Amino acid sequence: MRLLNWLDKQFFPENFTCELCGREIFDGGRFCADCAKTVQFNDGETCPVCGRKTATSTLCLECKAFAPAYKKAASAIVYADGGAKLIYKFKHGNAYLKDYFADLLQDKCAEFANADGICFVPMTKSDVRKRGYNQAELLAKALSERLSVPLIKNALTKVKKTEQQKSLSKAERENNLKGCFKADGKVVKGKTLILVDDVMTTGATAEAVCTELKKRGALAIYFVTAASVEYKVNNKDE
Ligand SMILES: [Zn+2]
Ligand SMILES: [Zn+2]
Repeated sequence: MRLLNWLDKQFFPENFTCELCGREIFDGGRFCADCAKTVQFNDGETCPVCGRKTATSTLCLECKAFAPAYKKAASAIVYADGGAKLIYKFKHGNAYLKDYFADLLQDKCAEFANADGICFVPMTKSDVRKRGYNQAELLAKALSERLSVPLIKNALTKVKKTEQQKSLSKAERENNLKGCFKADGKVVKGKTLILVDDVMTTGATAEAVCTELKKRGALAIYFVTAASVEYKVNNKDE
């Protein structure tokens, strides 16, 4: 049995199976042809501020109506279909995906490389213990190595648990996040920062954390995520 497993590994190493369905692939890609169609990259039209996929590369209506607390955001893939499955994997045991996302983000974030430090959206200590890691921290570290911008581990702490955000309206999300994050003024004051998280949906988390960072004296913040939802004009709460 052991020998068979070993042989199997030699002939079909990890990167020769599809990341999403596990099927064998022979062209050295990460996804099989069927799954590849389900992953969208943010390399076409995106909003110049929030970085979400849009129909045209002009400011989305949300950024037009309300300037976010961050200066500019970037994300690698669209949070839907195969992209959402990848994020799920990343959050549940497949920490190695940090390098995949960081590679995708490296060029996109080149313009942020003048930042003084990279920080990440924190989880509560008990949540980190449960999951084994904070995926935002892993991605921040991987990006820090690629951009040569130092990782600042103690910039932020999460002091209050949040309800699951999914089922909440935009106003409820904002309320849910109130007072959850604390930034250390001694660490962030006077600095331009890159803030990293796994996903941007409504942007409520980014808004709460960036507002807190600025309150403690951060000069400007670039917000970077592995994935973000596509911006659609009729998205009500998204
Ligand atoms: Zn597949
Ligand atoms: Zn926008």
